[in-house]
Amino acid sequence: MKKTGFVFDEKYLQHNTGEWHPETADRLRVIVDRLQESGLLEKLIRIEAEPANQRWIEAVHHVNYIMRFNDACAMGMPDFDHQENAICRESYDAALLAVGGVLKAIDYMMQGDVDTAFCAVRPPGHHAEADKAMGFCYFNNVAIGARYLQRKWGVERVGIIDFDVHHGNGTQHIFEADPTVYYYSIHEHPSFAYPGTGREFDLGIGEGAGYTLNTPILPGRGDLDYRKKLTQDLIPAFKQFKPDVLLISAGFDAHVNDMMSGVNLSTDGYDFVSELIMNLANTLTNGRVVSVLEGGYNLEILPLLVENHIKHLAGMRGV
Ligand SMILES: [Zn+2]
Repeated sequence: MKKTGFVFDEKYLQHNTGEWHPETADRLRVIVDRLQESGLLEKLIRIEAEPANQRWIEAVHHVNYIMRFNDACAMGMPDFDHQENAICRESYDAALLAVGGVLKAIDYMMQGDVDTAFCAVRPPGHHAEADKAMGFCYFNNVAIGARYLQRKWGVERVGIIDFDVHHGNGTQHIFEADPTVYYYSIHEHPSFAYPGTGREFDLGIGEGAGYTLNTPILPGRGDLDYRKKLTQDLIPAFKQFKPDVLLISAGFDAHVNDMMSGVNLSTDGYDFVSELIMNLANTLTNGRVVSVLEGGYNLEILPLLVENHIKHLAGMRGV
């Protein structure tokens, strides 16, 4: 078994989005409950999150945006930038701690204290733009993690794999002109799904041309398309790019039972995705992966999918 870290903090539960909202604290509660009951949690190395230093947030987000978000929470506003982005007074601190959890997991991995890590954090991040909150996301956890790897740890090339069913518009836009961070996303086709970006012909811009790749999946499709497309698109792209470290935007809303999408990935299909990523990591990055929770809204299936994913990170499943 690989040394696998696990990030979670009770303060992530304090980001209260209200009763109607799908992105709730219960998502993390059911995940931690299941990991406890199955005994997997005690096999993982617990990583304590600390609030991220604002300088790392500023590596991705505009200072003005960070202050606007802080102010909105402090003033007790009900939402931020859009009605769907529900907030409360504790949301800013939770978001800062979500980023901090990812950065701490990266420290553990780079120091060799863990081989891989899963960050059970919220709020999620991949829709957050440099200066705009979108899709329940405020700080782009994974994007900040990529910059942290480069600036704190001297890593040259970071590969991001985003298998949330929604396109990570924020992550793509943050890195689309940058040849040192490769953003790959597989998601429901933008003509049918939020946020309406992530076309096959978006391949990066300027110096970053050739370092963005999107695989749109049509509604109603599932395992077969994921197998075919990940094998055809992701594997050759990353074998050529040769990332030093992989970061994962792990969304579990592509599952057939998750009503947030029309894509029908099965539980086995998710296993295939995790296995393929770990094979890539073992080949390219010496097994170094930090995986960060994004979406996944069906509280019945989410804990099982996360447990299976962590087992792959830990080398307890697959090859
Ligand atoms: Zn999603």
